[in-house]
Amino acid sequence: MTGGKQTGSPIRAAGQCVPDFLRRAALAVVFCAWPLGAVHAQSEGIALPETAPMPLERPLEAPARPGDNRPRPPHLIEIPAAEMKAGVEACKAFLARDIAVAEIAEPAMWSNGCGAAGQAKVSAIKLKNGKQVPLRPSALIRCETAAAIADWVREDLAPALEGYSGLDRIQVAASYHCRPRNNIRGALMSEHGRANALDIRYIFTSDGRRFGVDVPETPILLMNEMRRSTCARFTTVLGPGSDGYHEDHLHIDLAVRRNSGYRLCRWQLPVPPTPLPRPEG
Ligand SMILES: [Zn+2]
Repeated sequence: MTGGKQTGSPIRAAGQCVPDFLRRAALAVVFCAWPLGAVHAQSEGIALPETAPMPLERPLEAPARPGDNRPRPPHLIEIPAAEMKAGVEACKAFLARDIAVAEIAEPAMWSNGCGAAGQAKVSAIKLKNGKQVPLRPSALIRCETAAAIADWVREDLAPALEGYSGLDRIQVAASYHCRPRNNIRGALMSEHGRANALDIRYIFTSDGRRFGVDVPETPILLMNEMRRSTCARFTTVLGPGSDGYHEDHLHIDLAVRRNSGYRLCRWQLPVPPTPLPRPEG
């Protein structure tokens, strides 16, 4: 995503075009195959310098040419001061509550709408009894959303799992990820792109059981409670039966919608099997 700086000696780097000074030496014409060119030059008895001038760094966003409608790679943009301040405040407040093991991540916003002003890398949630519940892998989330997720785990998820030996860890399917919704090209930016969403794959209990939205052993009462509590706290909840893209994980986010107050709660719980009628007599 980033058009990173080119580093290292071009003598060793394949794939770079021949610098001007070699062209002036009237060497054989070689394009974009520097190691081959180097061998050729040495066979002609021309000593090559140890280092060669670097080509100019390619700009992240090439100047547009008329009629060139190809998509351009995104570039970092300046974060508006008010947004930066709000992000810093949200992260300070999140850390001060001491409800998670987290470190503040570098604010970054991209020209395509990705990124966040205040975000944290969360590696565990601290439960009220002092136990730490790891997120694996750790999740990059904006701080307000991270606080909401920590509150949900502490106040709803962990208590719901007390009858099942307790919550041990959470397996994360995705957190920050700069992409369109459901990875569909041309779709609106996903809340994952704003570091505002978390996908939960599995929940592990202290006695080693694995629960998840598509794991048949997951108690229906637990899923019912997870559905109730996430839909009460988050503005988007998507699970199996929502849109075909959430059959194996639970998506939660804090999307801000124009129609404030509108919530999307789409997760069809599996229907418990109906017991077979007892044979008469
Ligand atoms: Zn998701």
